[in-house]
Amino acid sequence: MVSLSSRIKSTALSLGFSACGIAPSHPAESEAEHLDRWIAQGCQAGMDYLQNHRDIRLNPDGLVPGARSVISVALNYYPSVRRPEQEPHIAYYAYGKDYHYVVKDKLRQLWEAILPLYPGEGIPEARFFTDSAPLFERYWAWQAGLGWIGKNTCLIIPGKGSFFFLGEIVTTWKLEEYDKPQPSRCGTCSRCLEACPTGALSAHHLDARHCLSYLTIEHRGDLPEREARLLGNRLYGCDSCQLACPWNRFARPTEEKAFSPSPEMLSLKKEQLDTLSREEYNRIFAKSAVKRAKYEGFMRTIKQLNKNRP
Ligand code: SF4
Ligand code: SF4
Repeated sequence: MVSLSSRIKSTALSLGFSACGIAPSHPAESEAEHLDRWIAQGCQAGMDYLQNHRDIRLNPDGLVPGARSVISVALNYYPSVRRPEQEPHIAYYAYGKDYHYVVKDKLRQLWEAILPLYPGEGIPEARFFTDSAPLFERYWAWQAGLGWIGKNTCLIIPGKGSFFFLGEIVTTWKLEEYDKPQPSRCGTCSRCLEACPTGALSAHHLDARHCLSYLTIEHRGDLPEREARLLGNRLYGCDSCQLACPWNRFARPTEEKAFSPSPEMLSLKKEQLDTLSREEYNRIFAKSAVKRAKYEGFMRTIKQLNKNRP
């Protein structure tokens, strides 16, 4: 007989998720200790919120009291069409509609579809997350057997790569069958580390103070001098340590319509960007994660790209 866990996972795949696995909920001690060390070194840069809610982050029980399972999913965002290489780079994850809405909607659909399978009395508690709560998402994806955490700190799904959003349902539903973490298949490869233009990356360790993705998206104010010089053609995000990863040769374009980029975003040229008004920015990126940089941050990076041009 097909197990409940298998039916939950096949329902997730039928809804368009690329992978789904289930882990038993437990305290994530090793991750919490790693985070403590990382913060003590200042690697979180301006992301001070990562210092908050340590106890909740340590254990999904803090988000859903009595949590027994973490259902982890991955949704492909690899774009079918990309901006021309000579134009300023916008990270692939931000091409379409903001993933927070898309992934959460799909998690809700998944929950509604699997709830009739619940064999107990009443309704189990559940909450849905995608980069929206203090939860070690990559750790849970790894624990749920989706893939492994690569040296570039991304979750890598074998045969599929790393261009995926992660999402979780944390629930009090106890299942009889759980998945197991996969071993790393990075081996002796170090292409992501070599591809990082600033040296922000060492194996499994990212120093956000030097990461061009963090700096162009989250950082407010001028870019640090050294990193500004190393910006290359990056306007919003970076992607270099993912593009260098040999596992991403398996990346296939997403079938999620909400992630289709608008023709206007795809064709935005340097010259238009130089004079982009706040109204144009708000209109073109209305539903996009690019809004995270805010107009001021976006224009700061455009100015820096211009300064760097010979
Ligand atoms: S996103 Fe870019 S700058 Fe940041 S670690 Fe990866 S390659 Fe380095
Ligand atoms: S580039 Fe190589 S070392 Fe880096 S994450 Fe991919 S497989 Fe691992």
